[in-house]
Amino acid sequence: MKLLVNFSRGKGRKPIIAQVVRDTGVLINVERALIDSSEGEALIEVPDEQCKLVRDSMANLGANVRILEHGIHHDESECIDCGACISVCPREVFTFDEEWKLNVEEEKCILCGKCIDACPHRALSLPL
Ligand code: SF4
Ligand code: SF4
Repeated sequence: MKLLVNFSRGKGRKPIIAQVVRDTGVLINVERALIDSSEGEALIEVPDEQCKLVRDSMANLGANVRILEHGIHHDESECIDCGACISVCPREVFTFDEEWKLNVEEEKCILCGKCIDACPHRALSLPL
């Protein structure tokens, strides 16, 4: 399960992800992270059965945690199968099938947003 975690990094605060890994023993896969000296946002993946444990642990440390049920949203009615999204995606979410129709493996998406600007037909959007 994917979780989007937002947290502030006040002076002296411990690294929240490392602390939750230590406290819970759950191995957390960090898919994407943007962290500066004052705040951070991380997209993490954890086993479904340990999601609540991780979410509660992070919330107890002051983080705002949201479960992400979906990856990129693809509007088939707008898509013209141009393929512009294929080359910009870092996770190979998009491929062509044997009939040159766009295939979307949403579960691979890390919600980086790079494909949205690349799409000339506004067929892609974030599920936020
Ligand atoms: S948001 Fe990023 S990872 Fe997801 S499909 Fe678009 S480019 Fe790929
Ligand atoms: S860039 Fe947009 S229109 Fe082109 S294949 Fe991807 S989703 Fe479809």
